[in-house]
Amino acid sequence: MIDLRSDTVTLPSDEMRQAAHDAEVGDDVYGGDPTVNELEARAAELFGKEAGLFVPSGTMGNQIAARVHTEPGQEALVDAKAHVYKWEVGGFAQLSSLQVRAYDAGERGAPTPEQVREHLKEESLHIAGTGLLCLENTHNARGGIAIPKADIDAAAQAAHDHGVPVHLDGARVLNACVALDEDPADMAEHVDSVMFCLSKGLGAPVGSMLVGTEEFIAQATRVRKQFGGGMRQAGIIAAPGLVALDNVERLADDHENAKILAEGLDAVEGLSVPTPDTNIVVVDSEEKEMTSDEFVALCESVDVLGGGFGEYHTRLTTNLNVSQADVEEAVERIGDAVESR
Ligand SMILES: *Cc1c(COP(=O)(O)O)cnc(C)c1O
Repeated sequence: MIDLRSDTVTLPSDEMRQAAHDAEVGDDVYGGDPTVNELEARAAELFGKEAGLFVPSGTMGNQIAARVHTEPGQEALVDAKAHVYKWEVGGFAQLSSLQVRAYDAGERGAPTPEQVREHLKEESLHIAGTGLLCLENTHNARGGIAIPKADIDAAAQAAHDHGVPVHLDGARVLNACVALDEDPADMAEHVDSVMFCLSKGLGAPVGSMLVGTEEFIAQATRVRKQFGGGMRQAGIIAAPGLVALDNVERLADDHENAKILAEGLDAVEGLSVPTPDTNIVVVDSEEKEMTSDEFVALCESVDVLGGGFGEYHTRLTTNLNVSQADVEEAVERIGDAVESR
């Protein structure tokens, strides 16, 4: 089985299991887990921020950030295809009492400063003011787009000019940094907080990180507790996260494999597959008159797994457990299956 459903399906390496076994632990709710503390310090340093917080999931990290940055009744400005809007179960509304203003950030996934200004709302007797701009990099639903630092900076600057804080949903921001050869601290320079996932391309079994100022992280720690995310001997799961941080440069392999996969499938008649920026390959099977459900089923019949991504679009994600030989094999199997359909 070649599993390309997501980069979350990766299994922890022997080194990660060993690190979990050997981890020095304590009660992290009391700040007493040295392994968690080390992971939080390393994450903060990597992104050039004052402090870090280990959270159980990327979703919780984003939701905590929204709560800390805003007041109930404000607006959160997000792309209509943002993860926080599409796939976090309406959390902004329920957990932070935010009204979401979803606009179209365009194919490349980042708003222009003009777009940001156009959608920012000044609070008044009648109007909910904007309390947060949320950006996403890489942009998942738009096909793993790696957004350059300059575009993140420009959008963030436009928000800051109006006193609006900026959170970066950077579940895969390290993929963007590797693809663009950008230092994570530079990428994060003008955003107030960043969430990134250890459990995706980096291969850890559990966990994400939130980074920002000391004050932001102090408040985030309280909100994490309130959301039920205060963990005790969490060093057991933080230790594989430390190993995962050694996997950053390896993300380039996933990107290379994604290009091979995309080029191979694009050559199959009836499929259209743009060259990916990172590890997310989006296959358009409309010309072959195959819905995504049909294409996913066809892939499954030849032991390749993918995920639906719109009516005629399917997402295939390269990951740590998939080699170049695997993606070449996937191209061959899918190509044969599509041609004989
Ligand atoms: C996966 C993902 C998340 C959420 O991470 P979980 O750990 O699955 O909760 C948030 N944002 C983006 C862009 C993602 O791809």
